[in-house]
Amino acid sequence: MGQLYDDNNIFAKILRGEIPSHKLYEDADTYAFMDVMPQGKGHCLAITKSPYRNILDATPDSLAAMIATTQKLARAVKAAFDADGVTVMQFNEPASGQTVFHLHFHVVPRFEGVALKPHTGQMEDNAVLAANAEKIRVALSQIR
Ligand code: 5GP
Repeated sequence: MGQLYDDNNIFAKILRGEIPSHKLYEDADTYAFMDVMPQGKGHCLAITKSPYRNILDATPDSLAAMIATTQKLARAVKAAFDADGVTVMQFNEPASGQTVFHLHFHVVPRFEGVALKPHTGQMEDNAVLAANAEKIRVALSQIR
């Protein structure tokens, strides 16, 4: 049997509006927002609205919804920052590097010659996150 879902994880609190987030996108099954400790400019996250811990307990349908939102974010961040590429990451259980136990995909715009910063490193300035979020929202409104 796998590990249990904990309702008090930080992303569950974000979904309930108990903790603020820079919202980018939302549909019936998913929610997207800025990562507060970005590994690169424009690092954002897609999460499920349903309470899944990670890919190990999620349903195929919920994963399909997640990957659709992840693709939207990938296209939007590439356009928003004129990125050369996009890295998508997803971690399952502590041994893999997962630190928040609510299913999520990381989407990070990439630039030639620029390495990723450490995972869960430094907090970004709120004004920078807000400005980057606005650029991504504009790009999301302009792409299919
Ligand atoms: P994981 O290690 O579980 O794959 O990634 C969790 C991610 O959530 C990390 O990239 C971390 O920076 C981000 N994160 C942790 N706490 C918060 C928070 O309170 N708000 C937001 N927006 N992101 C968070």
